[in-house]
Amino acid sequence: MQPSETYRSGLEGTPILIADDSALSRRLLEAVLNKWGYSVIAVSDGATAWEILQRESAPRIAILDWMMPGLSGPEVCRLVRAQNRPHYTYIILLTARNEKDDLIAGMESGADDYLVKPFDNNELKVRLGPGRRIIQLQQELLVAQEQLREQATRDALTKLWNRHAIGEILARELARSQRENIPLGIMMADLDRFKLVNDTYGHIAGDIVLREVARRIAASIRAYDAAGRYGGEEFLLMLPGCDEEACLQTAERMREAIRQTPVRVGDLSLRVTASFGVTSLPRGTAAASETVIRVADEALYQAKQQGRNRCVQLPFAMYAAAPPSLL
Ligand code: GH3
Ligand code: MG
Ligand code: MG
Repeated sequence: MQPSETYRSGLEGTPILIADDSALSRRLLEAVLNKWGYSVIAVSDGATAWEILQRESAPRIAILDWMMPGLSGPEVCRLVRAQNRPHYTYIILLTARNEKDDLIAGMESGADDYLVKPFDNNELKVRLGPGRRIIQLQQELLVAQEQLREQATRDALTKLWNRHAIGEILARELARSQRENIPLGIMMADLDRFKLVNDTYGHIAGDIVLREVARRIAASIRAYDAAGRYGGEEFLLMLPGCDEEACLQTAERMREAIRQTPVRVGDLSLRVTASFGVTSLPRGTAAASETVIRVADEALYQAKQQGRNRCVQLPFAMYAAAPPSLL
């Protein structure tokens, strides 16, 4: 899940939308905006303008004629304001009329500014300034928001979900798999004898290994699976729709991906392995997060006990029912 690139792109390349049913007015506007370095999308009616403004990469600034066939400028404006989109659209209304009442009604539709036709180019230029600034500021705000969200939910070292986020995802996936009546595969993975890596090659080498293992784990799952860093060198994974067998297969694939290729750390090639505890909630199972973690943990514990570098899968129903003291 990467932050949207459109948040980062600033205003460059975003065209200005012109909607005017007068071909002459359209051409004049387009010519002057082109001269100032803007690219322009020009349309002749409100319905087309509205269609364009709903697109994912819609222009952020729109100059809409007041009177147009189909939807009028203020009507398009109202529709734009009613949609709940993260990006702001700065709207300037063009009007041939000069009555105050109309202007008030136009501005009440949510327009940011208006221009009375005929206007001179300098006036248009001046009116575009605040629009550019507002769009720019909002853009920066969206980027900052995205970065904060990223920091709050991602583990800084591995870029996987952090412990808090993966815990929330687990709760959500438990509810969803029950609702949709699908199984939910769960994995707990832990690097083997990782302390030895740190002790022998240092903490920085350890970090590089952790990051590479996380990358291999992330590369082994599907888009709708989730992987998080649950503890220091421990990972929690959720695989919606995966029964025990499918989950075990994925774990085996991951284990092999980690074991097979040594991790390069400078001139060194470090062989690392991981152990996996695997379980899957059968379709329709209601379970608390703690229970799920407990069963996956128990499976991981058994994998370690049995010699590490292996996957152990436990039937969920049987182990979920057993009190921890009996395990
Ligand atoms: P086991 O096979 O039983 O899991 O052995 P282990 O050595 O991996 O387990 P143990 O829990 O004894 O040690 C875990 C080590 O992981 C200790 C700690 O130094 C290391 N570790 C935890 N988080 C980080 C980290 O962010 N960076 C680095 N470099 N090491 C970490
Ligand atoms: Mg370990
Ligand atoms: Mg550990």
